[in-house]
Formats: sequence, C-alpha cells, structure tokens
Amino acid sequence: MIQIDNPANCCGCTACASICAQDAITMEPDALGFLYPKIDVTKCVECGLCEKVCQFNEHYDCSLNLPLPKAYAARHKDLNEVMKSRSGAAFVAISDYILEQGGVVYGAGYKDHFRVVHKRATTKAERDEFRGSKYVQSDLTGVFHQVKEDLKSGLTVLFSGTPCQTSGLNAYVGKKLRQNLVLVDIVCHGVPAPYIWRDYINHIEFECKKIIVAVDFRDKSHYGWKDHKESFLLDDESFITKTLWTHLFYQHIMFRHSCGVCHFTNLQRPSDITLADFWGWEENVPGFNDDNRGVNLVLVNTEKGKNLFKTACNNLDTKDVDIRNCLQPNLQHPSVIHPDRKTFEKAYKQKGFRKTMQKYGNSGWQYQLKARVHKVARIIKKFLTK
Ligand SMILES: Cc1cc2nc3c(=O)[nH]c(=O)nc-3n(C[C@H](O)[C@H](O)[C@H](O)COP(=O)(O)OP(=O)(O)OC[C@H]3O[C@@H](n4cnc5c(N)ncnc54)[C@H](O)[C@@H]3O)c2cc1C
Ligand code: SF4
Ligand code: SF4
Ligand code: SF4
Repeated sequence: MIQIDNPANCCGCTACASICAQDAITMEPDALGFLYPKIDVTKCVECGLCEKVCQFNEHYDCSLNLPLPKAYAARHKDLNEVMKSRSGAAFVAISDYILEQGGVVYGAGYKDHFRVVHKRATTKAERDEFRGSKYVQSDLTGVFHQVKEDLKSGLTVLFSGTPCQTSGLNAYVGKKLRQNLVLVDIVCHGVPAPYIWRDYINHIEFECKKIIVAVDFRDKSHYGWKDHKESFLLDDESFITKTLWTHLFYQHIMFRHSCGVCHFTNLQRPSDITLADFWGWEENVPGFNDDNRGVNLVLVNTEKGKNLFKTACNNLDTKDVDIRNCLQPNLQHPSVIHPDRKTFEKAYKQKGFRKTMQKYGNSGWQYQLKARVHKVARIIKKFLTK
C-alpha cells in the first residue's frame, strides 16, 4: 500500500484513493488544508494498485507525446472572451468545441464560499466558472470517478488542471478509456494552501463588515494582463483590491511541499495541450499583445492535441513560435520553496491567520520595516555607485 514518508512525494491528485476498490483510502487535510491519502489498514487487502497508479515521479506516462511540443502564441478572436479569461482564452476556444460536440468539460470552480474545487460542465455557462486562474489547490475528491463514468458511457471528456492532476487522471483511467479523454494542463508555478485562502476571505469580510460575492485572483479588467493584484466584489456592490495573496504567492511560503520538487516543469507534458501566459511575447510575437489584454503560450504535445487545436484555431489568432525561446522558469525547474515554509505552517497552527500574517504578510510592521530598510539600502547603493 502507498506510504507517504515525505509529504513532498505526494501532489494530492487522488488517483490512489480513486482506484482502491476496498475504499481503504480517504483524502485528509493537513494543517494548511492540503489533502493527503490516509489508509484504513483494516480494509486494505495489499493489492498494490494504489502504489502502481501513483504518477508523481519521473516515470509518468508521456507515451503519446510528439518528439517536441509545437508552440504557438494564441488569443481568442473575440476580445470580450479574452477579457473574461486569464490569458488569451485558448481554454475557451478549445472547450467550446468539446461542448459543441456533446462532450463534457472539467475544470476548477468554486463550492461553498469560494472553496476551490474541480467541477463538471455540460454547457458553456457552467464552463465559464472555470475561467480565470484560481491560485489555490483545487479539491478533486470524487472527480476522477465521475470522469471515468463519463468515459465509460461514451462521452468525450476534456479535463483541465495542473499537470500533476492530469498525470494522475491519465494513470487512473488507463489506456483504453484515454481515447476519448482530452487532457489540458497549465504551466504551473505552484499551488497555495486552501485553509489560508478560506481564512483570508473570512478576514476581509470581518474587517469590512460585508460579504464577498465575487473574487478575481488576478484582476485583468482593472489592472491589465501583466499586473497582479486580487480584487473582491462586496455585497453592497463596492469593490476592493488587495495584494496580500499575490505577495504570499510569490514568496512561495504556502505552496504544497510537492511544488518544490515538481516533476512536470519541463517539455515532457503529461497532457495533450498545455496552456500558459506568454511571458516574453514582446520578442517572439511583437505587436500581438500591445493592448495588454492577454496572450496564451500554447504547447501542442500529442497528435490528439494537434487535431483539436487545429479546430479550435477557427476562433483563435495564432502564430507559430520557437519553443526554445519560450522557456519560462516553470518549464525549466520547480519554484524554490521559501526557507521559512515550515515555520510559517507552525505559526499558522499555533497562532492562527491574523498573527501569522502580521509576520509573513505585506502589511505588518515587520514587513514595513524590512521594506524601508531595503529602500534606504537601494538609495545608498545608487548614491555610492554614481
Ligand atoms: C495555480 C496556477 C499557477 C499557474 N502558474 C503559471 C505559470 O507559472 N506560468 C504561466 O505562464 N502560467 C501559469 N498559470 C496558467 C495561466 O495563468 C492560465 O491559467 C493559462 O494560461 C490558461 O489561460 P486561458 O485564458 O486559456 O484560460 P481561462 O479561460 O482563464 O481558464 C482557466 C483554466 O485554468 C484552470 N484552472 C484555474 N485554476 C486552477 C486551479 N487552481 N487548479 C487547476 N486548474 C485551474 C481552469 O480549469 C481552466 O482550464 C497558472 C495557473 C494556475 C491556476
Ligand atoms: S500523488 Fe496522487 S496517487 Fe500518489 S500518493 Fe499522492 S494522491 Fe495518491
Ligand atoms: S493496496 Fe490495494 S487495497 Fe490496499 S489501500 Fe492500496 S489499493 Fe487499497
Ligand atoms: S507545481 Fe507541480 S506539484 Fe505543484 S501543483 Fe503544480 S503541477 Fe502540481
């Protein structure tokens, strides 16, 4: 049976829990809300399937891959669609086609009060909830079973998620059912902690004495595609912008441990198509994103991906690019986890959200002091080098 000696060796994909015919595995949250398999040994019959299905290692399946992905810059022809999505809305063009053919689409949406979970959509209206990057690990509990049922009933399924999620699903459904399954992943920087996100929402509502009715992890409509600030719409129709989540995201201090040793930060993608923000578009496709509304980097990784992307291209402006010039950091190596990641978790466990944010957030007195010291140091350095 599967054993997690080091939490960095598990990405939480749920493949092991989904494959266990004895229902011996449940996914249980750690202190930050990341899910890990927990085995009920009284139910386990030592069949070994859970170990076999686990793909969070360097031997994950890429057997359908082209020798090298084909890379494109892409943007939806309809600017309204671009504005509703994180990058260039390539996901929308691709998933539109699947839905129009009677297929189903899975992606990251919300449940309860902005808890990030994977969901199933059969219409474009349902699918629209998946648009936009949610910088929190999504909960996949029960979803792999649902995908398998859809495939068994003959439906075409598009599953979109992080590469560790698509890789786990690929192993779980097996080769036979893979035929009608389209996997779309993202270039992935890492996923933040569900409980910190939950507490952040509660904290904002407590502070402003209003209820949040909509969130935007990266508000493109007010700040453009390149900038990164989170926005919240409140129940009195007022709107606030914050930067705490963005700050913590780039600190890499609340990522899942596995993100620091991620096996998918390369061109061997575990999916048919990979979507990303096209950082470096200025040199590769000058003029393509001058209005700063967003542009995708698309990697077409398999023959199936190639055919699907060709059809989706009817709604996309695209340009071929040389993949060697588009290797952003998370296509080369995992994000480096903050050295205080463990201390952060301990502080959260012992002192809760507010106190932890005073130390690690970007508004407490320690952060302000540090920022001022850095600013003075920068001015002195500039003065001395003149
Ligand atoms: C946690 C995270 C980290 C990322 N890191 C990078 C990066 O380092 N570099 C880069 O270039 N791009 C990164 N992206 C991808 C990028 O932000 C866009 O999601 C991607 O370019 C698709 O844009 P789009 O306009 O085509 O999709 P949209 O129409 O905006 O659709 C969003 C897509 O992302 C999926 N998605 C959203 N949130 C999650 C989630 N929490 N878990 C799994 N899937 C999710 C949805 O299911 C959907 O398929 C990241 C995205 C996420 C969610
Ligand atoms: S990576 Fe996935 S399959 Fe492997 S132990 Fe974790 S949840 Fe189970
Ligand atoms: S070894 Fe088999 S029975 Fe035991 S937990 Fe793993 S899948 Fe379930
Ligand atoms: S960085 Fe890797 S391990 Fe972390 S969520 Fe993304 S794909 Fe999964």
